[in-house]
Amino acid sequence: MTVVVAEARGRGGETSFLGTVAPARRDGETLRWSRFLPATEAEGPGPRAAVWLQGCAVHCPECFNPQLWAERGGRVTDVAGTAAEWVAQAAAAGVEGLTLLGGEPFDQAGAAASVARAFREAGLGVMTFTGYPLDRLEGWVAAGRDDIAALLEATDLLCDGPYLRDLPDARRPWVGSRNQGIRALSDRYADDVRRIAASGGDDRLEVRIDRDGVVAVNGWATDAALAALLEDLGPRADSPAQVAAHARTRAEAAR
Ligand code: SF4
Repeated sequence: MTVVVAEARGRGGETSFLGTVAPARRDGETLRWSRFLPATEAEGPGPRAAVWLQGCAVHCPECFNPQLWAERGGRVTDVAGTAAEWVAQAAAAGVEGLTLLGGEPFDQAGAAASVARAFREAGLGVMTFTGYPLDRLEGWVAAGRDDIAALLEATDLLCDGPYLRDLPDARRPWVGSRNQGIRALSDRYADDVRRIAASGGDDRLEVRIDRDGVVAVNGWATDAALAALLEDLGPRADSPAQVAAHARTRAEAAR
């Protein structure tokens, strides 16, 4: 079942293509990623593993994760070994599926498809977030992009389209703006999609605080709500500059 979608273009300024330019085809043997959680309940239906890929060419203004735009940074690892390790951790955590988000999974479509297939083969579902609208992805598939086809084929639930800050969506979970789609690409999550189409749903935000006081946040909240929360809690674990400043402050206080 398909929910929404009106595609929106050209609101991102000079540095943003908002998903209108085809991603480059990349090496499918390695994966560049930032963070993996074996279990979360804020990134899709039910308890799920989640991986944040590093690198995004879509550049939505006021993106929730701009630290994940750069194609440098993060970790680069062998896809097969990494996928096997993540499947094992997810199975041990007893989760229902995997969510791929970013960063931009389709900017590493071949490698992301390999990870998705590994979870599928273990009987788990796959949800993928992308800033590229589905009709553009399908157009690139028709033009011969088998790596994009492979990731779509291995995805059960797709949230697609760029985040547009002037179209905030307070009704549906997981997505940030009303132009974005929530689409069941297989039967696995079709009931969830029907329920959301009929009555919407709530966003969730998870906060983890380690022993050093570094805060890791995932899920979705408005910019204002997130800023207020982090102001109270401390530096984000996925913001190296904040973490370094926090460590300096602690070191100075300990002298
Ligand atoms: S596609 Fe996602 S990660 Fe990329 S800029 Fe847009 S919101 Fe941010």
